[in-house]
Amino acid sequence: MKLFTVGPVQMYEHTLQLGGRMLPYFRTQEFSEMMLETDRLLKRILQTDEHSACIYLTASGTGAMEAAVVNCVAPQDRVLVISGGSFGRRFEEICRMHAIAFDAVCLSEGERLTSIRLERYEGQKYAALLVNLHETSTGQLYDIVLLRDFCRRNGMYLIVDAISTFLCDPFAMDENGIDVTILSAQKGLCLPPGISIVVLSERIIKERVEKVQSRTVYFDFKAYIENFKRGQTPFTPAVGIFLQLHDMVRCIAAEGVAVRVEKVRLLCADFRARVTKLPLHMPAYTMSNAMTLLQFESPVARRVFETLKNEYDIFVNPCGGAWADTALRVAHIGDLTMEDNHQLVACLEHLLEK
Ligand SMILES: *Cc1c(COP(=O)(O)O)cnc(C)c1O
Repeated sequence: MKLFTVGPVQMYEHTLQLGGRMLPYFRTQEFSEMMLETDRLLKRILQTDEHSACIYLTASGTGAMEAAVVNCVAPQDRVLVISGGSFGRRFEEICRMHAIAFDAVCLSEGERLTSIRLERYEGQKYAALLVNLHETSTGQLYDIVLLRDFCRRNGMYLIVDAISTFLCDPFAMDENGIDVTILSAQKGLCLPPGISIVVLSERIIKERVEKVQSRTVYFDFKAYIENFKRGQTPFTPAVGIFLQLHDMVRCIAAEGVAVRVEKVRLLCADFRARVTKLPLHMPAYTMSNAMTLLQFESPVARRVFETLKNEYDIFVNPCGGAWADTALRVAHIGDLTMEDNHQLVACLEHLLEK
C-alpha cells in the first residue's frame, strides 16, 4: 500500500514501530519531561519564542480550529474569513455556530487571492483574520506576507490554520506576525490522527485567551496553559501519539527544519516535472509543496481514483464539489521517494491512455 494522501500520510518506519508499544501511565514526572521537551522543540521548529503557549488537544484538526475561535474571539468581535474552499467554509461554519459576526472573502474556482481582493476590507475594524494558509481542497498556498501586512495595517490578529503547510512550506510564526497557529498530527508531522495543537502568541494569551469568558469545558485553553506549566494536560492526552510526536520533533530538530521542508519541495518539484507530459493541467495559482492538484481533460477522476486503489494499491485524494469528476490531489508528504513518484506517474500515464 502506498499513500499519496494529505493525511494520514505514508508514515515513517520509526513512527510505526513506536505505535506498537505498550503505553505508559502519563501522570508522572517522566511523561511531563517528555511533554516539555516536545514543546520546546516544537516551538523552535515553528520559530516562535518561549512565551508562546502550545495547547495539545485530543481532537482532529477541526476541533483545534473551533477551539482556537472560541478561545481567541470574543462574542462582540467581528472577524474576516478567507473562504477559498471547503476548509475556509469550515471557519465560516464555526463562526456561524458560535454566533460570531464575520465577513468572508469568497474566492471563485481557480481564483488567486491578491491584494486587490482585500482592498474593500481595509479599515473595517475586524478583530481578526481567519485563514487556512494552504487551502487543502484546492491546493492554493496564500501569500503570508500579504496577509501579515493586511493584519498589521488594520490592527487585526492573524489566526492561521497551518495544518497542511507546516513542514511542507517554509513557516515562521513570529516573523510573520502570526498570533495563532493551528496544527494537526496527521499532515506534515506524518503521525496518526488524534492530536491537534493550537499555538498562541503571548499577546493573544494576554489580550484574549485570559479575558474571553469560556463557553466550553473541554476546550478551555486557560486550563491547558495552567496544566502545561508542569508538562501535563487537563484531560487524558493521546498518549501513544504523544510518544510519536516527541520522536518526530526530535528527528526534525536534529536534521533541521529547512532540510525537512527542502525534501518535500524536491519531491513535489520532481512530481510536477514528471506529470507535464501527461494530458492534464495544474492550477495557475501558487500551490503548496504539500500536494498537487491535477485537473483532467475529461471526467475520469473517480475512475482513476478507484483503479489506482483497487489495482495498484495506491491512494490519492479525491476532490469534492465541482471538481469531483475532473480533479485529484496527490500529496508529497511522508515516507515517499522519487521512485514512488515515477511509479505513480507511470500508472497515471497507463490509465489515461486507456
Ligand atoms: C486536514 C485539514 C484540517 C483538519 O481536518 P480534520 O479532518 O478535522 O483533521 C483542517 N484544515 C486544513 C487546511 C486541513 O488540511
